[in-house]
Amino acid sequence: MLENKIAIVTGASRGIGRQIALTLAKEGAAVIVNYNGSMQRAQETVNAIQEAGGQAEAIQCDVSDFNGCKEFIDGVIKKYKKIDILVNNAGITRDNLLMKMSEEDFDAVLNTNLKGAFNCIKHVSRQMLRQKSGRIINISSVSGVMGNAGQANYSASKAGVIGLTKAAARELASRGITVNAIAPGFVNTEMTAVLSDSVKEAATAQIPLKRFGEAQEIADMAAFLASEKAAYITGQVISVDGGMAM
Ligand code: NAP
Repeated sequence: MLENKIAIVTGASRGIGRQIALTLAKEGAAVIVNYNGSMQRAQETVNAIQEAGGQAEAIQCDVSDFNGCKEFIDGVIKKYKKIDILVNNAGITRDNLLMKMSEEDFDAVLNTNLKGAFNCIKHVSRQMLRQKSGRIINISSVSGVMGNAGQANYSASKAGVIGLTKAAARELASRGITVNAIAPGFVNTEMTAVLSDSVKEAATAQIPLKRFGEAQEIADMAAFLASEKAAYITGQVISVDGGMAM
C-alpha cells in the first residue's frame, strides 16, 4: 500500500513512534527513523524493520533545533529525492501543577512538541509543494483536546499542534498535501509507565473502553492517514482514545 514511499517518523526510537515506523515499513515505505538521544534503540527499530524485509535508516536530530531540522531534512531529500510522509511524533512531558511549573519546563515541552512539529513541517513542505503531494500526520493528545491538570505545558503544546495542523492543512491542500492530527488517549509506553498505579486507575475510570491503548492502535491510524484511502481527509483531529474525548 505504501510501496516506493519515503517516510520520516520523528521520535521513532521507542513507543508510539517506533510502532508507526514498523507499521509504515510493513506497508512498504522506506522509513527514516529519527531519534534524539537513544541511538541504540533507534538502531534496534531499524534492525527490526530490516529483519522483516523492510527499508529503514536511523538519523539523529533534535526536532526543537530549527537549523538542525533543516540540515536533517535537506539530507533526506538529497539522498532519497522526495518525502511522501512526515509523522511528527517526537514528544516529551514535564508534568507539574501550574504553580510549581518552571519556565524551563514550559519552554522545553513547547519547543519539542509544538515548535518541533513546526520545524519539520516547514522544511518538509517546501519539497512536498514541489512534488504536489504529501501526507503530514501530527501526534497530538487527548490532553490537547480536553486539557489535563498537571500538564499545562503539555496540553498547551498539544492544543497548539491541533491549530498548526488545521492552518497547515488549509495552506497546503491546493497542492495535494493532507495534514491531519491523531489525538491518542492513554497509551502503554514509557511515557505512561512512570504513572503511579493510583493515577493509572483514575485514568482508566475515565476511559469508556476501560483500558489504556496500545501503540499499534495509534500506528494503524497513522498508516491509514498515510495511505491513498485517506486522500479526501485533511485538517482533522482523529481521537484514538477509547472514547475519552467525546
Ligand atoms: P516515549 O515512549 O517517551 O518516546 C518519545 C520519543 O520521542 C522517543 O523516541 C524520543 O527519542 C523522541 N524525542 C523526544 N524528544 C525529542 C527531540 N527533541 N527530538 C527528536 N526526538 C525526540 O513517548 P510515546 O508515549 O511513544 O509518545 C509519542 C508521542 O505520542 C508523543 O508526541 C506523545 O506526546 C504522544 N502521546 C502519547 C501518549 C501516551 O499515552 N503514551 C498519549 C497521547 C499522546 P529519544 O529516545 O532519542 O529521546
